[in-house]
Amino acid sequence: MTNNPQNQTMEFQAEVKQLLNIVIHSLYTDREIFLRELISNAADALEKLRYQRVAGENVDNEELSLEIGIELNEEQNSLSIIDTGIGMTREELIQNLGTIAHSGSKAFIKYLSEGDKKDFNLIGQFGVGFYSAFMVAEKVTVESQSYLPGATGCTWRSEGAGSYTIEDNAELTRGTRITLKLKEDAQQFSKAETIKRIIKQYSGFVPFPILVQGEKI
Ligand code: ADP
Ligand code: MG
Repeated sequence: MTNNPQNQTMEFQAEVKQLLNIVIHSLYTDREIFLRELISNAADALEKLRYQRVAGENVDNEELSLEIGIELNEEQNSLSIIDTGIGMTREELIQNLGTIAHSGSKAFIKYLSEGDKKDFNLIGQFGVGFYSAFMVAEKVTVESQSYLPGATGCTWRSEGAGSYTIEDNAELTRGTRITLKLKEDAQQFSKAETIKRIIKQYSGFVPFPILVQGEKI
């Protein structure tokens, strides 16, 4: 860990390391569920923002509409999931994406490390859905700006191997953008037809608009 609070390198909690190690080094047939997990997190963040609004809280970038965007870049083999939800502060990024506070994760690690036929589909139920991004991504970047007026935006980056970095980012508007630099064998997830099919299959009941390349599906 560095002492400079602006640009920190942090170790994942031991349990997260263990989980990531399994996620990265295993071959799962149902890798596409990563998208359902990230869309579900985006929808949760939008729902929380809506609640803050209804409760009369001051919300940064009040005018932004509540929606989920997917941007694809076939050339760079990347995909981004963008939401205008509640966002995360630096402390929340550290807490939410670097540690696992609840016991469901231990149970999931145990489940994954025993036997050979695994249903990765269950990851969301164990409360660790975010980490499924590392099934398809060699690098994950999370840019987030909390809804709290005056909060500093931050960029979180990790290749999943032991540590992550966080630095301030003053360029952001409210919400979260998660960019996956896809693995070479996961190129299909930068293609619009694949992404649209997966969304229709797994995210049909998400109560916010989902736009793929700016087009509502
Ligand atoms: P769960 O959704 O079951 O809590 P996850 O591993 O999917 O578990 O996500 C961990 C946490 O990270 C969430 O509870 C939330 O606090 C935070 N998080 C993840 N994605 C986002 C997002 N797009 N916006 C705001 N917070 C998020
Ligand atoms: Mg989740």
